[in-house]
Amino acid sequence: MPGPDNCRTTEPDVVVVGAGIGGIYAIIRLRKLGFSVVGIEAAPEVGGVWYHNNYPGSRVDLESDTFCYLFDEGLYRSWTWTDRYAAQPEVLAYLTHVADRFDVRRSIRFETRVVSARWLPEERRHLVETDSGGVLKPRFLIMATGQLSRPRDPEFPGLSSFQGDWYQTSRWPHHEVDLAGKRVGVIGTGSSGVQTITAVSKIASQLTVFQRTPHFSIPAQNRAPDESRRQRLRKRFPQLMSDLLQSAAGGFMPPPAGRAADFGIEEQHQLMEQRWAFGSQSLLQVFSDQLTDWESNTVVAEFVRDKIRDAVHDPKSRASLVPDAYPMGTKRLILDTGYYEAYNQDNVSLIDVRKDPIRRITRTGIETRDTSVDLDVIIFAMGFEAFTGALDEANLSNDAGVSPSQLWERGPQTYLGVQSHGFPNLFFLTGPGSPSVLANMFLGNVYHVDLVGGLLAHMRAKGLTYVEPRPESQESWTVIQAATAEKLIRRQVDNYMVKVNDDGSRVYIPYAGGLNRYVAHCQDEADAGYPGFAFA
Ligand code: FAD
Ligand code: NAP
Repeated sequence: MPGPDNCRTTEPDVVVVGAGIGGIYAIIRLRKLGFSVVGIEAAPEVGGVWYHNNYPGSRVDLESDTFCYLFDEGLYRSWTWTDRYAAQPEVLAYLTHVADRFDVRRSIRFETRVVSARWLPEERRHLVETDSGGVLKPRFLIMATGQLSRPRDPEFPGLSSFQGDWYQTSRWPHHEVDLAGKRVGVIGTGSSGVQTITAVSKIASQLTVFQRTPHFSIPAQNRAPDESRRQRLRKRFPQLMSDLLQSAAGGFMPPPAGRAADFGIEEQHQLMEQRWAFGSQSLLQVFSDQLTDWESNTVVAEFVRDKIRDAVHDPKSRASLVPDAYPMGTKRLILDTGYYEAYNQDNVSLIDVRKDPIRRITRTGIETRDTSVDLDVIIFAMGFEAFTGALDEANLSNDAGVSPSQLWERGPQTYLGVQSHGFPNLFFLTGPGSPSVLANMFLGNVYHVDLVGGLLAHMRAKGLTYVEPRPESQESWTVIQAATAEKLIRRQVDNYMVKVNDDGSRVYIPYAGGLNRYVAHCQDEADAGYPGFAFA
C-alpha cells in the first residue's frame, strides 16, 4: 500500500538523503511502515553510483542475480539479467524499473542537495537545509549518501589550462562522449580505471595509462547467465535473502579448500586454476588462511602474477603491471574482461608514474618528469573520499556543532554502523562499523533499512522521539570491530578502508567479521528490545 504523498511536507517523519540502492529502498520500506518520508537527491534521477558512474566499461563485480533487491518476489521475477555481471546501463535501468514499480519518485526532490543538517535539541528534530533554499525539519534523518559517492577531485597543476576535454569516471556526463579516434590519457588503475582502460582501448586512436600502483585484477569470466542457476535461485526465493545474509559477503561462492599448507604445490595449483576458471571474488578464498597468513597469501598472489606475466607481451609494461606493492586481497580485487591483453595493442601504452611522476597538465596534454604526452581527452579514475566524504559535504552537525568526521578523527566510532553517540535520530546506511563495502551493497542497504525501520516502528509504538547509542554499547562495538580486523593482513596495508593515526595506530573502518556474524549481532540487539540504544 503506498504511503502518503509527502514530497512537499516540511516536517516529515523521515528525510532520506540519497536515492541510490539504499535511498530507494528506504522510501519503499518506510512508507510501507506508515512513516511520512521525503527523499532528497542531488542528481536528476535515482541510481546513485549507477547513475553517476556511467563511464565506458562500467560494470558490477558481484553476480547480478544476487546483486539486486531480494525483498519482493514479484520484483525479483520481473527482471532477467542479460549478463552474469551486468553493465552499468542495465543496473541503472533496473533501479529506475524499481522506482517505477514502487512509485518511488513522488517522494523525492531531485536536483536538490543537502548543504547542512543540524540537530535541534529542544524540538527533537533535525534542521535540514538544501541548495534550493528549502528547509525541512524531520524527526529522523537517514544518510543514504553512499560510502563511495564523493569523488576525489583531480588537483594537478595546470589542469585549468588544458585545451582538450577532461572527465571523471565518478561524474561521467550523461551526454554522448565520443572517444573514437581520440588520443586519450587515463589516470588511475583501480576498478574504475581498469574498466575504463579496457573499454577505451578498443576505440581510442591512442591510449596512455598513467599508473601509480599496479593492482591485482583477474578475469571476471563474464558470460550469459546460467539458466539452471536462475531457476534454482527463483525456486529458493523465499529463503534467498536469509541464506545470503548467512554468508560472509552476501554471495554464493565455493568455500575455501583448507589452509594453503595443507596442500602440495600441484594441488594448490589445481585449486587456484579451478577458481580462476570460476571467476568472481572466489580467488580470495581458495585457502582459509590467505587473508591472514602472509605465506598463504603469497601462494595465490604469485599465481595471479604469473597469469599477468603470461598475458602481457611487452617486457617493460609487464614489469610495471605485475602487482608488487601490497598483498593480494588487501585492496578490492578487480574483476576485468581483457584488461592486461589491452596492453598488447599497438595503440596502448603505460607510464609508470612511480618511476616517472606526473609534473603537471599542460595546454596540450600531460607532462611527466621524462616525457610529455599530447592528448585530446584526459580521464581521471582516481577514486573517492570514501566513507566520510559525502557526510562532510552535507555539513552534518550535532547540537554542539560537531560533525561525525570531527568525532571520528581517530577512526569512525559507531554502534553497529548505523548510529553514532552524540548524533541523536541520525542514521547511516552501510556506514563505517558495518560490513559496508566488504559485502554485497544491495543486501547491506536493505538489511540496514529494515533494521532502522524496525527501530523506528518500535519507538512509535512506545511513544519515543529520541534515540542514540549508549556510549558503552558503542565502545564495546568498537572493541568487537577492532578484534575482527586484528589478524587481517589488509589492516596492515594502506588503503581507503584503513584510518592511519599520527601515532601509527590503524583503524579498520568496516566491520570485517563477515556479514553473517554482523547480522547475528544486530538480530540479538533487535530481539532484546534494543538495549544498546538510549531512548527518550
Ligand atoms: P550511492 O549509490 O552512492 O548513492 C548515494 C546518493 O546520495 C547519490 O545518488 C548522491 O548523488 C546522493 N547524495 C550524496 N550526498 C548528497 C547530498 N548532500 N544531498 C543530496 N544527495 C546526496 N558494490 C558492490 O557490492 N558490488 C559492485 O559491483 C559495486 N560496484 C561499484 C562500482 C562503482 C563505480 C562504485 C563507485 C561503487 C561500487 N560498489 C559496488 C559500491 C557501491 O557503493 C554500491 O554498489 C552501491 O551502489 C551504493 O549504493 P548506496 O545507495 O549506498 O549509495
Ligand atoms: P580506487 O580504487 O581508489 O582507485 C583510484 C586509482 O587512482 C588508484 O589507482 C590510485 O593510485 C589512483 N590515483 C589516485 N590519486 C592519484 C594521483 N594523484 N596520481 C596518480 N594516480 C592516482 O578508486 P576506484 O577505481 O574508483 O574504485 C573505488 C571502489 O569502487 C572500489 O574499491 C570498488 O569497491 C568500487 N568499484 C567497483 C567497480 C566494479 O567492478 N563493480 C568499479 C569501480 C569501482 P594508488 O592505488 O596508487 O592510490
